Amino acid sequence: MKVIVLGGDGFCGWATSLHLSAEGHEVTIVDNLVRRRTDEELGVQSLTPIRPMPERLQAWRETRNSPIEFVELDVAKDYDRLEALFARVRPDAIVHFAEQRAAPYSMKSPWHKRYTVDNNVNATSAVLCAMVEACPEAHLVHLGTMGVYGYGKTKGMTIPEGYIEATLRSAGQEANVEILYPVDPGSIYHMTKTLDQLLFQYYAKNDGLKITDLHQGIVWGTSTPETDLDERLVNRFDYDGDYGTVLNRFLMQAAIGHPLTVHGSGGQTRAFIHIRDTVRCIALAIRSAPERGARVRIMNQMTETHRVRDLAEMISRMTGVPVEHRDNPRNEMAENDLVVANDTLIKLGLEPTRLSDGLMDEVVRVAEKHRERCDTSRIVCSSLWIKPLAAE
Ligand code: NAD
Repeated sequence: MKVIVLGGDGFCGWATSLHLSAEGHEVTIVDNLVRRRTDEELGVQSLTPIRPMPERLQAWRETRNSPIEFVELDVAKDYDRLEALFARVRPDAIVHFAEQRAAPYSMKSPWHKRYTVDNNVNATSAVLCAMVEACPEAHLVHLGTMGVYGYGKTKGMTIPEGYIEATLRSAGQEANVEILYPVDPGSIYHMTKTLDQLLFQYYAKNDGLKITDLHQGIVWGTSTPETDLDERLVNRFDYDGDYGTVLNRFLMQAAIGHPLTVHGSGGQTRAFIHIRDTVRCIALAIRSAPERGARVRIMNQMTETHRVRDLAEMISRMTGVPVEHRDNPRNEMAENDLVVANDTLIKLGLEPTRLSDGLMDEVVRVAEKHRERCDTSRIVCSSLWIKPLAAE
């Protein structure tokens, strides 16, 4: 198949592009490289030394002899070039990762809030609009987040895959309907993903676009069989307080002997998936497109759930590095349960990688190898969800 990967220079996008290319798909990466500029803005760098895009692509050509095309383009702002690209390539599938994806970054300041909304909503809107004009038969696979469901209001019920049966009551009448699961975003970033859902629903209904929305858990790990082939193919490893996700951050802290920083009581339960499974899920999603005119297909892309303090204690037992509780910068419930249905991807053939499969050691080894690149002053989150009131 011909596949365009939007955001293909990022953490999930790079590993996915290589995996799809290794599977024999013809891959075009689109990225405006903003994530590399954000590293400069924040004064941090990926723990792993990621190479410039031309070097990455050269290494892939030398390793697998399967060229990947790269187009530098802002998906949110450069509509005409995006539509022309879709018309030229005529992709069978478009994988959409091209969004600002860090909740703490989205909460940093008024500028960061507005940038995250502008970038994410306009990117998704432009992709859908350009598909209608240039490639209405293509299948869009979008990376959404488990965070659209929220973490506080599930009342112990299993979170379904996107839709829920509901009874509407109005003026003494009742009707049973199936609706999108009520959204409950916990940050500006998560809110943009709930807005994406409405755009998808509209374009699937009105224009018959084929859309899969993957509600992904927190990704951990850094390498895949393809990124391991050559050191120039190394994937990003974010460890800083804005972009570092919780499990990778703990494993990296353990590797350098920094206390494992838990926000609040650590009673938050979250869904997780290894980067190897992320890339496999996307390959599975591409192989099984919904029909034109069907409702948006939503799959929960996660393999297991864990309470944050349990993870910290497990890694502390593994490595001897102590756990340190910090004030929680987020406005979220201190404790929550989380039960999630993920039947669709399992039925499509996903064999989940588990935390117990030995891959945590691999992450610690990668972090140890590059420990001299770590700036320990950047590990702790500095964004605050609630603006402190000015002192009287
Ligand atoms: P990332 O920041 O590493 O990658 C995103 C890529 O998109 C970057 O290379 C960036 O330069 C590019 N990009 C952003 N805006 C763009 C634009 N307007 N035009 C062109 N390119 C643009 O993020 P990631 O961790 O790879 O996440 C990818 C997607 O997966 C995101 O949409 C995110 O919401 C979703 N997701 C990630 C995780 C996770 O744990 N990493 C969890 C759930 C969902």
